[in-house]
Amino acid sequence: MVSDTTREGGCGCGHVRYQVEGEPIFVNNCHCRQCQQQTGGTSVVNAFYENERVTVTSGTLTEHVLEAGSGGPHVICRCGECGVAMWSYYPRIGRIALGLRVGTLDDPGSLTPDAVIWLQDKMPWVTLPEGIPHFDQYYDFREVLPQDRVARMDALIERRKAGEG
Ligand SMILES: [Zn+2]
Ligand SMILES: [Zn+2]
Repeated sequence: MVSDTTREGGCGCGHVRYQVEGEPIFVNNCHCRQCQQQTGGTSVVNAFYENERVTVTSGTLTEHVLEAGSGGPHVICRCGECGVAMWSYYPRIGRIALGLRVGTLDDPGSLTPDAVIWLQDKMPWVTLPEGIPHFDQYYDFREVLPQDRVARMDALIERRKAGEG
């Protein structure tokens, strides 16, 4: 199935603008302690895409490295002017895929999470959305995602094994 959906987004000051092609591989709403601390919010919503689907159309980004929960470098790419986080690279998959902050899309409601994760760290007053699978920690993507998205994950895993990213 070929999708010609193109979404656009940007940071809080307008310096960085980007385009992203097609549908994400998956979308997570993560309530882990690190996401709370790094965003200052209850949780984060990240849409995962192959890196080549995202194009910066204006502005420059700065990179900020933190240690990921699983160990290794978690690279957060931020607007070089206002510092808003745009997306992240994670150590397990490297730079062949990124987790884009859904709140930076011009139409953030156009994506719905596939899963709500790390409920064990959730702030106690946060209620869960109906109809979206939720997990105390993480989940097996093969049990949650449709087959075409599993295939895209497998392709990334193969590229990573071959030394990319
Ligand atoms: Zn900005
Ligand atoms: Zn998290």
